[in-house]
Amino acid sequence: MSDTAHNLAEVQAAIRRAEADYGREPGSVSLVAVSKTIPAEGIVPALEAGQRVFGENYVQESAGKWPALRERFPDVELHLIGPLQSNKAREAVALFDVIHSLDRPSLAAALAKEVGRAGKSPRLLVQVNTGEEPQKGGVLPGEADAFIKACRETYGLPVEGLMCIPPAEDLPSPHFAFLAKMAARNGLKTLSMGMSADFDPAIQLGATHVRVGTAIFGARTRKDG
Ligand SMILES: *Cc1c(COP(=O)(O)O)cnc(C)c1O
Repeated sequence: MSDTAHNLAEVQAAIRRAEADYGREPGSVSLVAVSKTIPAEGIVPALEAGQRVFGENYVQESAGKWPALRERFPDVELHLIGPLQSNKAREAVALFDVIHSLDRPSLAAALAKEVGRAGKSPRLLVQVNTGEEPQKGGVLPGEADAFIKACRETYGLPVEGLMCIPPAEDLPSPHFAFLAKMAARNGLKTLSMGMSADFDPAIQLGATHVRVGTAIFGARTRKDG
């Protein structure tokens, strides 16, 4: 077995264990395998091992890698988990099944326009900047309820959940609990939270999608990854 296939099996097992430990429905947590910066040949072992849900951070990089991989593995589900520029909305709507980084009215407007044009919408999650970090994407917590409402009512976008990336220096659990509460009061069922280092507490607090890169593909060499 390749390292990647081995790591993937371990992460899947840890997710199933956490579901059992925390009284979550078996299979209720999806693993989004984060393959940013990993070349196609590094992703193939995960695909061959049966993984079908992948996360990427960059539209351009994904457009270079995934169309060919999808010809071989047509049932792949591709998630955009990195920031999205409004001028890439068209390409993102064409390429991704789920976008986790909807976080501002200008992007909601751009996505609404492209969804109308394409006649199909990716599933959409609103990213919340729970740590209020200036360098990070995401709507500020105090503006999130109004933004979710505007996405639905003003822009007609099918928002189905929330995503967050807690500050590296914080304990993640309070951020996860906060996001879960916000989702519940807005009637949202999908919670994208938890990465390699903290997917276990995220599952405890209600994650439906965990985004795991390093624990599957190893440490990334590129700094911007
Ligand atoms: C890179 C990245 C991940 C994966 O992080 P790991 O620590 O490698 O598991 C998850 N979510 C987002 C938004 C990322 O950019």
